[in-house]
Amino acid sequence: MKVPLFDPTSAIEPLRAEINAALLEVSAAGQFILGPNVEAFEQEFANAVGADEAIGVANGTEAITIALRALGVGPGDEVIVPSFSYYASAEAIPPTGAVPVFCDIDPSTYISTAEQVKAVMTPRTKAVVAVHLFGNVAPVAEIEALGVPVVEDCAQAAGSVGPGGRPGALGAIASHSFYPSKNLGAFGDGGAITTSDKELAERVRMLRFHGSRDRVTYEEVGFNSRLDEIQAAVLRVMLPQLSQWAQHRAAVGQTYSELGLGDLVTLPQPAAAATPAWHLYVVATDNPDQLAEQLGASGVESRGYYRSPIHEQPSMSAWPTRQGTLPGTDEAARRHLALPISATIGDDQLEQVVTAVRAALGR
Ligand SMILES: *Cc1c(COP(=O)(O)O)cnc(C)c1O
Repeated sequence: MKVPLFDPTSAIEPLRAEINAALLEVSAAGQFILGPNVEAFEQEFANAVGADEAIGVANGTEAITIALRALGVGPGDEVIVPSFSYYASAEAIPPTGAVPVFCDIDPSTYISTAEQVKAVMTPRTKAVVAVHLFGNVAPVAEIEALGVPVVEDCAQAAGSVGPGGRPGALGAIASHSFYPSKNLGAFGDGGAITTSDKELAERVRMLRFHGSRDRVTYEEVGFNSRLDEIQAAVLRVMLPQLSQWAQHRAAVGQTYSELGLGDLVTLPQPAAAATPAWHLYVVATDNPDQLAEQLGASGVESRGYYRSPIHEQPSMSAWPTRQGTLPGTDEAARRHLALPISATIGDDQLEQVVTAVRAALGR
């Protein structure tokens, strides 16, 4: 039996009829941009996250850019971001006019500590993009205690729980992605911004609609960045399932540990007081690509996602790291390997993964 790295379809199979009905309703209603489903989903998603407001946008990348713009980030500013993340976390910064400043991560959790953020702060630091990578929960309150607002990048952390609440309600403002393979995935691109600051929420609504509040006066150069009505209708059917899917993802981490995976490779450590709804279950080992090849031969998919950290990507060459090397980032980039996880993966499949890892490492 093959064990795929992820499985975005099994979980939504029982919802298929309801989703199809919702799609037909949107088709019949004929209102495709900023209609009733977007408005209802924004309220439902805000409630699920525990923030006062949610604003639907086109995708998780623009969500970061717009959140930064709402905070007033612009030319001459610096925005701190971890180099070990999905590329979009940093790509979203230059379009504001600000420059990305790369910070390190703790390779045992894959997230940045407040100390690592502090190490690269300057008087120009205007905001920090704190990434809840792989579903783990970044220390947002500790970072904001340094005196800078945080944009939480929640793209991989739908359903996770952290100290003091859920990702998306821990800092000034937060970005979310509904890319199909994420923990809460639509039938195409989609994203949202959450905040409990009314003024920021109003700025986001203005920025996502071409920089206009009333569609007559255009006060800032903004974006055409909305969540589609069709995607909102799909997401409204899925959202009530999120906490159950998240519980399963958290339980997979437990089960991998109980099966002895931690004797073979280094397991990801949940951040203090966090219950991660693991988006990817990422372990560390000395020769990950060799292990991946051996696992593949026994039908178990695995993959290193961020083998080259963002600061080494050609597009980022104008912004070298402030401290030279980022040792935690380099270690994680070299050693990480994502193993199979999904909202429905069964214990038999997890056993097959652990057995395959044990055999591959000759234990
Ligand atoms: C997926 C992802 C994004 C970007 O989201 P899109 O909806 O694909 O634009 C940003 N940050 C992280 C950490 C992601 O995983």
